[in-house]
Amino acid sequence: MKTTKLKIGFYGITGCAGCQLSFIFNEDELLSLIDLIDLRAFPFIKEFNLEEKFDYVFIEGLVANKNDLKTLKKLREKADKLVALGACAHTGCVPAYRNFTLKENYKHLLYMKRTEIQDVKPTPVDTHVNVDYTIPGCPPDKNEIMNFIKDIVKGKEPKINNNPVCVECRRNNNVCLLDVGKPCLGPITRGGCNSVCTNGKFECWGCRGLTDDADIKLLVKLLKEKGFSEKIIKQRMRSFVGLKLPNLEKIMNE
Ligand code: SF4
Ligand code: SF4
Ligand code: SF4
Repeated sequence: MKTTKLKIGFYGITGCAGCQLSFIFNEDELLSLIDLIDLRAFPFIKEFNLEEKFDYVFIEGLVANKNDLKTLKKLREKADKLVALGACAHTGCVPAYRNFTLKENYKHLLYMKRTEIQDVKPTPVDTHVNVDYTIPGCPPDKNEIMNFIKDIVKGKEPKINNNPVCVECRRNNNVCLLDVGKPCLGPITRGGCNSVCTNGKFECWGCRGLTDDADIKLLVKLLKEKGFSEKIIKQRMRSFVGLKLPNLEKIMNE
């Protein structure tokens, strides 16, 4: 049957499926949303998946093996617009920390015989293909995913929050964790999560990625002044956005 609904695919490469679950676990809105879109493919939950041309493909996960790369390139060809869904796709997230540690630390965890899943340098999606949109977070908020889809259904350009987490944190009247000995990355991290971590007195680790104008030098200087060691600063900054900070070593030494 011919349909004018947007043809959408949801896929995952290396990740934990948390981003896809975040979309599915929106009991209040999911069914009504399914009426608005043509969900052609969602291999995580659908047995029959149509792989033709898509208007939008949402991709969870990062490239961590040869299969991922093959899948990603195939989907990029099929998708009019590609959406990096969640922190792994967006920044590489915690799995990309492997770039900053010695192979000895993780080689016992690798599949050595299955050549198609042998490791490649773990990298976010935009390292390999053009990305049209990003929905940040680990995992992304279910309402943010829904709002994104509602926008594209209406033909409205989806917007991504570019204020640092500190804006929401201050609005929520939280005590600044930098003042109580916790290395918070809120000043350089894209908000939109309602500062959920700092509301609970956990520092922001940067899961939503960097703001467009993140001042890394300033935060490094501030963290040093607050007495945090170089090791802690580097570890923290590399946990979610390490690959987006190629000059970190240089900044640390300035
Ligand atoms: S971004 Fe977080 S929730 Fe999503 S796949 Fe990666 S680790 Fe899982
Ligand atoms: S706790 Fe973190 S997010 Fe909140 S104001 Fe301080 S630095 Fe910013
Ligand atoms: S406070 Fe930071 S780590 Fe926590 S959800 Fe928001 S961006 Fe992610």
